[in-house]
Amino acid sequence: MAEIILKTREEIELIRESALIVSKTLGMLASEIKPGISTLKLDKLAENFIRDHNAVPGFLGLYGFPNTLCVSPNAQIVHGIPNKIPLLEGDIISIDCGALKNGFYGDHAYTFAVGEIDSSIEKLLRITKESLYKGIETFTEGNRIGDMGYAIQNHCEKEGYGVVRELVGHGLGKIMHEGPEVPNYGRRGRGKKILNGMVLAIEPMINQGTHRIKQLKDGWTILTADNKVSAHFEHNVALINGKPELLSTFKYINQSLGIESDEEILFYKDHP
Ligand code: MG
Ligand code: MG
Repeated sequence: MAEIILKTREEIELIRESALIVSKTLGMLASEIKPGISTLKLDKLAENFIRDHNAVPGFLGLYGFPNTLCVSPNAQIVHGIPNKIPLLEGDIISIDCGALKNGFYGDHAYTFAVGEIDSSIEKLLRITKESLYKGIETFTEGNRIGDMGYAIQNHCEKEGYGVVRELVGHGLGKIMHEGPEVPNYGRRGRGKKILNGMVLAIEPMINQGTHRIKQLKDGWTILTADNKVSAHFEHNVALINGKPELLSTFKYINQSLGIESDEEILFYKDHP
């Protein structure tokens, strides 16, 4: 993976601008996701929305990816390609979206329920999202990348879930995937030192069953080896004055879905 590039405050503000376009895109999609809609329709809505915000879809053409969104239903973990198949009641759909503006990327993901879902799957979504915030909490000066992975892994494995090994979070900036790699597993006190000016995409990918994966013949789609479901939540976070500050937000999603949440409040901008 590419080198670690620390960001200035001005650069962090530009990444925030791109990340917030993605947050708003996901918020718009949250109102559209229901049984019967296709992921290709969601993809077109997202592409238009991003372009209307004077940005460019960050994934479209990246490494040759054909669309704006990575859409990964049910047993798919990440990198699913949009298609015309309608979503069904009881599905879950992980949507990962990128935007590029002013030369900087945002990269942000959420797993949505389609209608009513099974309570065991609801729990997987809740625990995965909680693990994301556990990871963000440990993104502090003095800690190491392994402390973040440990926090995420511990929170998920104690529920018996599988933590994907082959795919990891990453640094974010003018390049979509910068260093350091940010695994969702790890050992405390190990890995690269966390430094002010780091901007990370932190993104637990958590399986209901085995952590093992397989790939479809399309060369993109990653899914669980046992075909059990998988969840993916991703935020963009900067280290400012030794503390994590969220650049992305789920508040637009929560507004669309009528959810009240204070889960992000610890990480809002409060650094003078
Ligand atoms: Mg992503
Ligand atoms: Mg990412």
